[in-house]
Amino acid sequence: MTRLKLKSSAKRALGIAVVVLLFLSIGLYSFIKIKSEKDYEKTYDYKLSTKGYNENDINLLKENYKDKEINYILEQDKNDIYTNILKDKMFIYNNFYDYLDYYSNNSTLSVREIVEKVNTKTNNAYYENSEQADTSKKELMLVNKYYYLDESYTPENIVSIPTTYAWGNFGDQQVTQSTYDAFLNLWNASHEAGFYLMVNSSYRTFEKQQSVYDEYKKARGTEYADSIAARPGYSEHQTGYSIDIFEKGYSKSNFSETDSYKWLLENAHNYGFILRYPEDKVDITGYDFESWHFRYVGVEAATYIYENNITFDEYYAYFVK
Ligand SMILES: [Zn+2]
Repeated sequence: MTRLKLKSSAKRALGIAVVVLLFLSIGLYSFIKIKSEKDYEKTYDYKLSTKGYNENDINLLKENYKDKEINYILEQDKNDIYTNILKDKMFIYNNFYDYLDYYSNNSTLSVREIVEKVNTKTNNAYYENSEQADTSKKELMLVNKYYYLDESYTPENIVSIPTTYAWGNFGDQQVTQSTYDAFLNLWNASHEAGFYLMVNSSYRTFEKQQSVYDEYKKARGTEYADSIAARPGYSEHQTGYSIDIFEKGYSKSNFSETDSYKWLLENAHNYGFILRYPEDKVDITGYDFESWHFRYVGVEAATYIYENNITFDEYYAYFVK
């Protein structure tokens, strides 16, 4: 009898223990579940998905932006601009807010145009927010309407181009040694192709540019002078890496119609030169189309610029600066 009693009370205790354990597990399970749900709600995956971004977008945003940008995106309505700018091959992280600023005022522009304008600072007026050119970059230094050289800058290793290849007297046309060496290779290749190129303009001093600019300014005012000449310090010719070239017998007005120009378009990059102010990049370079103005930047940069149809201005922003 006692043994039976004991047995049944042990059974009951066991039963209670099982039930208690069961409740405990259910409780623990629910607790963990709720906690992990709460934790998930704190993640960017959850927050971005409730904003309407899909998995691909979320991964792209998380891979490329830091907390600051993601929190900013979460404060705004859903907009594809945040992922679309990332897909542009010239996207620069530090320009994030400038892209958005420019986009908010120019939402009809393509993403490529927005990235290109901001990267090249052409979202500013010419000469606005300009800074000193970094001459330590040598043939990759950028001089344009936003980057200037000071009065004292003269290129290192300047050499004179022999009159075989250049107009004027010996000493009139000068470039850096590296530009000259590359130019000789370019000249020889173009000569083999049946052309005779001549350098018409090259290294120009600050003072020379000053007198050219001032003359236009005196005659017809600043607006006119700005439209036709670079302000002193802002001319690429002061770098010693620029040349104006024509085929013998041609000039500014008709060089673009020649076969030698077409040959240069397709081949100059192999020798480290680029057409610096192309017809379809006027808004970016700030210069009207100049079929004659070539710039030495080295073969690697020239090839990239040629193959990707970008300007040196943007190449500089993405790769050099
Ligand atoms: Zn020029």
